[in-house]
Amino acid sequence: MKITNVEPMVLYAQDDEYEGEANVGGYTGYQLVVRVDTDEGIHGWGEACVGSENGEAAYAVKELIERGLLPRVKGENPIEFRKIWERLYEATYWYGRRGLATFAMSAIDTALVDIAGKALDLRACQLLGGQYRKEIPLYASLLFDMDDPEGTAKKGEKYARLGYAGTKFGWGMVPSKPFGADFAKDEEIVSLIRERIGPKTWLMVDVGRYVNWTVPYAIKMGRMVQKYDAFWLEEALPQDDLDGYAELAAALDVPVAMGEELYTVYDFDDAIKRKSADVLQPDASKMGGISEMKRVIELAHINNVMWVPHNWSTAVNTAASLHLSVSSPDGFLCEFKQEPNPLVDDLVKRKFEVKDGKLQVPEGPGLGIDINEKVLKKLRVG
Ligand SMILES: [Mg+2]
Repeated sequence: MKITNVEPMVLYAQDDEYEGEANVGGYTGYQLVVRVDTDEGIHGWGEACVGSENGEAAYAVKELIERGLLPRVKGENPIEFRKIWERLYEATYWYGRRGLATFAMSAIDTALVDIAGKALDLRACQLLGGQYRKEIPLYASLLFDMDDPEGTAKKGEKYARLGYAGTKFGWGMVPSKPFGADFAKDEEIVSLIRERIGPKTWLMVDVGRYVNWTVPYAIKMGRMVQKYDAFWLEEALPQDDLDGYAELAAALDVPVAMGEELYTVYDFDDAIKRKSADVLQPDASKMGGISEMKRVIELAHINNVMWVPHNWSTAVNTAASLHLSVSSPDGFLCEFKQEPNPLVDDLVKRKFEVKDGKLQVPEGPGLGIDINEKVLKKLRVG
């Protein structure tokens, strides 16, 4: 079997509910998926989570794939996806290793694993070493509305009732009204959420990049959320402050989570060596793809560090995160974006099945997803 083509497709979706101020709560923005074709008629899907306001990252990744990566993978056997990954990493060493080139590699790598699964009639999780579970507990990924603590807490209550293992609140609905800017208001909303979701549902707090905390302030906030039995405190510091994270993790009892901005096994190895995180959050659609994330998962296992996939973009990455989660003895939780989103709900013909708050592994080989070509056509802009 040989790769005959890689087609990157830029998608754009507009969430009318949040028109106006840029936000991470809605799905407004650009994403990129790739379709890889072979001479045997089998094709696969991959994703680069390129979220950028003006689409610049999406179009740059498209260019990188068409000019740089496609000529290097054409004619190769997709089943040899690790060999191809290493070749692309080497070929892009000058401008890559992180950032956009890694996004581009992520999309291709995941599509190759999808193809290999289809060719061998194995689910991606089996191909990655074995399927440990049929389903994976989810946490609902939600946003703080600092103007509406009661409404925010109610959302958490809804998912706690539906049987979700946890609810995570982050950032703030809009950048001008972030969580983390006013200690009293922050404590009020966290305590209200805990009251509404009850004592058994995990509560995670995701600080995000709307505010910039220092280590002492992050320790103070960490002790506050600890009072409400938070399951983890996420992204409390700038992503480059790995030593700060190590200080924070040493000072707090509440687990420190980070890693959605780390790339390849090398960044995660660095974070593990410095003891920067209690919970690592690799994102398969940006850090190098499904096979590279598998390496991070093995490394986390060896070092006895928790990991939970970061998953915030399209149905393709949800499928990748799901297969990775069930293909390891340590996978215990997966992020799932709850609010209706055409990039997750409509892009695939069969919607993901959630039973009692647990995401079910779909039938079928590879990633087990069928892209809805009609919806793809509607969302495609480049
Ligand atoms: Mg986050």
